[in-house]
This record gives sequence, C-alpha cells and structure tokens, in this order.
Amino acid sequence: MKIIRTSRAMTSWSERLRRDGVIIGFVPTMGALHDGHRALIRAARLRCDALVVSIFVNPTQFGPREDLTRYPRPIAKDRALCREEGVDVCFEPTAEVMYPEGFQTVVTVPEIARRWEGEARPHHFPGVATVVTKLFGMVRPHLALFGQKDYQQAALVRQLVKDLNLGVAIEVRPTVREADGLAMSSRNVYLNAEERMIAPWLSRALQAGKQAIEEGLKDGKAIERSMLKAIEQAPAIHVEYLALCDPDSLEPLTRVVHRAVILGAILIGSIRLIDNLLVTVPGKMRRARG
Ligand code: AMP
Repeated sequence: MKIIRTSRAMTSWSERLRRDGVIIGFVPTMGALHDGHRALIRAARLRCDALVVSIFVNPTQFGPREDLTRYPRPIAKDRALCREEGVDVCFEPTAEVMYPEGFQTVVTVPEIARRWEGEARPHHFPGVATVVTKLFGMVRPHLALFGQKDYQQAALVRQLVKDLNLGVAIEVRPTVREADGLAMSSRNVYLNAEERMIAPWLSRALQAGKQAIEEGLKDGKAIERSMLKAIEQAPAIHVEYLALCDPDSLEPLTRVVHRAVILGAILIGSIRLIDNLLVTVPGKMRRARG
C-alpha cells in the first residue's frame, strides 16, 4: 500500500491510472477506523480496480468548542486496517496541504445544511462540502462511498456532486452497528462505561418510530412523540432532535406517505451522538411489489 501526502502526488497517481482505463474508488474518512469504515472499504473494493482511502481530520468542519484536538488519531492501526482490506493508496494530506496560505474558497449547500446537524453545528457542513470537493479534485475518483450513519452529509454530497457536475458516482452504504444497536462511530471511544450503557437508547428510540410507522401511524408529530416516549425512560440523555423527515429534502414531514427518514441527535453529558433510520410505509411497499 502506498502512502501519499501531497495533492500533486495524489493527482498524478490517479491521472496515470485513469489514462489506462482503471476505475478508481474512494472512501474519505477522518481515521480512527472501525467496522463501519471497513464495510465501506470492502464494498468499494468490490466495485473498483484501484482504491484510495483518505485519512484527514478536517479542522474546518469542527466548531471552536468541539473536539478537534482530542479527536482520536491511531494512524498505525488505521494503516494496518487499510492494508488488510487491500487498499492501494492511503491518502494522508496535512492541514497545510489541504489549506495552504491564501486559501479562501468555501463551498456551501444551504438548503440541505439548514436544519438538524447544520443548525446545531453551523461550521460543520461548509467544512464538509469544501473538503469533499477538494478531495474529489485531488483523488479524481470514478466512485466514492459514504455511510448512511451520516445521512445529512450523504445527502449534501449527492447534491454537491449534482450541482457542481463533479462527475463522481456516489454510493451510500448502510450503518454498521454494535450488537446492542449503537451505530459505530469514532467518537464512541469518548463514552465511559456508564455512558456506553445508555448510548443505544438513541437507536431504540428510532426503532420505536419505525415500528409506529410500520404499525400504521402516519402523523409526523405522533410518530415523534412515540420516539420521545421511548427515550424518556433512559437516564441522563438530552434529546436534541428526533425528527421525521423527507428522505431527499430532509424537511420535516407532517405525514408519512411513502418513504421517510427518522433523524436523531442526543447528548450524553457533553458527548453528542447522531443516528438515523430509513423507513418505507408497508402498504406502499406491498403495492410497489405488485
Ligand atoms: P468519518 O471518519 O466519521 O468522517 O466517516 C467516514 C465515512 O464512514 C463517512 O462516509 C461515514 O458516514 C462512514 N461511517 C461512519 N460510521 C459508520 C457506520 N457505523 N456505518 C457505516 N458507515 C459509517
């Protein structure tokens, strides 16, 4: 496996392969790789001839009071996982490579970024949109894979690629979970034993919402109430939002018609966890299958 640190070396590696008709797959990450990342890397490996994984803890997507300095950076372990999974290039740009002196462009996707994570973390999505655009420019992939775990991020990337004609196919892969339902995340290492016990309540609340829809509940507010009721029993959780939304626009839904996404964010102490579930209304599903 090759380790590349500069933009020029990355682009010339990709351009050489592209000239030979090689299909390049790309999985952007912030490192501290877990089985969720591994699943993305495996899926990418099956779909392309050459595979690039980037590891870059992007400072511009963290707010001033967020966890940038303490974000885990186990680089040797991350490289070992990439090697195990047959990654061809681990792209590890520094902040200076990504944002050299004089850098000034910011990419924004205002409608998708308006609510939910965008509202709670105003710095976040302009940072994500800008770094993803830059990474695509450096890596020049044919295909890039993202996790459903960060649903709003994936929606934003799709919009960005479409709006800016970036010419990268986007695939979104299902969330990989721990046995008790907790969505895997590099940030789960911040949870102490007690907090770790409480953390799966977020996915339980989302499941309660999904179940309510599958049992025929259609009213958005009633579905949200069923999720709040489920999580009420959990100690020491502050709910930021549990919302039923349109899966494409991410606008809140007053009524479920066909498909919906349930988005959730909670705080356990100062640790913020997000998760989501996609739901299809069963009646429609049966009709669609004929
Ligand atoms: P991150 O390193 O957290 O920026 O994540 C890199 C990519 O991995 C993003 O596309 C995430 O959505 C995806 N990802 C993170 N956690 C999971 C998970 N539990 N299951 C699937 N994909 C994930």
